[in-house]
Amino acid sequence: MTKQYDAVVIGGGPAGVTAMLYLLRGGAKAALVEKLAPGGQLLLTEHLENYPGFVEPVKGYELADNISRQIEPYPHDKFYSEVKEIVHAPGANRLLIGDEWVEAKVVIIASGTRHRRIGLPEEERFIGKGISFCALCDGNFYRNAEIGVVGGGNSALEESLYLSRIASKIHLIHRRDKFRGEEVYVRKVLEEPKIVVEYNNVVTALHGETLLEAVTVKNVLSGEERTLPLQGLFVFTGFDPVSEFLPADIKVDERGFIITDTEMKTNLPGIFAAGDIRSKQCRQVITAAGDGATAAHSARLYLESLNA
Ligand code: NAP
Repeated sequence: MTKQYDAVVIGGGPAGVTAMLYLLRGGAKAALVEKLAPGGQLLLTEHLENYPGFVEPVKGYELADNISRQIEPYPHDKFYSEVKEIVHAPGANRLLIGDEWVEAKVVIIASGTRHRRIGLPEEERFIGKGISFCALCDGNFYRNAEIGVVGGGNSALEESLYLSRIASKIHLIHRRDKFRGEEVYVRKVLEEPKIVVEYNNVVTALHGETLLEAVTVKNVLSGEERTLPLQGLFVFTGFDPVSEFLPADIKVDERGFIITDTEMKTNLPGIFAAGDIRSKQCRQVITAAGDGATAAHSARLYLESLNA
């Protein structure tokens, strides 16, 4: 028999788990779908300095673990799988999870994002063999090595600082002459002697037999090319939405992020979105959690309207 839920929440990051917490505390019959371990991008973050309530930096995995443990006392279902399709029908949405169809009156999409590639043809070949998207996971492979970091946002800055405690030298390769990330990180990066900032540079080629051995960078102003002997290249060039399974006709922006109103409602009745998958400016753990709470509140009102 088809499993039926008041709500299915897609994504076990801070947005999805917070939505679950609010739904479950409100008495909803809810299920969480998460492909891997709950925590989302938090699991790739060494520590957070800007999560309210933690005077000392809190480790990403600890916060993720605490958030997900908070829903454990409440009965709910978990699918360690992927949503492949959503067929929208007000009050009776159908979701294909793995190879099982389930039904849900409301759906909260909190599927987050995945790392954007640099865009070089040889890039895929070097992933796990020199190219990494997670300093916390792979940094230790590069103890005392000369490595590169690509990007100019908060991730590139923060992860360069983390890696500066492990590697001997870091080339922070940024395509412009101004960072996108916050001033507090910019200052720390510029003060760190192990980090050399390669402003106005892009990576144009990757070299190595099996493992990455060197990287060619090009100065976008002068056209000058140099080959740097880098054993590792950490790529933090932003994120793309995880959105392959979205229902037909859901409104997204030009980059594929879901458009919602301030109550996390999408254009499809009964379908809500929360966290990094939303089209918005500020992507933080705290804003993801806030979105999750708001989405759950809106979902509850929607469920009540179905019963009215
Ligand atoms: P981001 O803010 O989108 O920055 C991506 C960076 O990569 C930009 O500097 C961009 O350059 C560069 N870039 C993009 N495509 C590129 C390409 N093909 N080649 C070379 N460079 C490229 O991404 P993020 O740093 O991962 O941050 C994502 C979100 O998470 C942001 O909202 C950020 O504030 C948040 N975050 C917050 C914290 C924190 O608060 N502690 C930590 C990490 C992330 P341009 O600047 O020229 O566009």
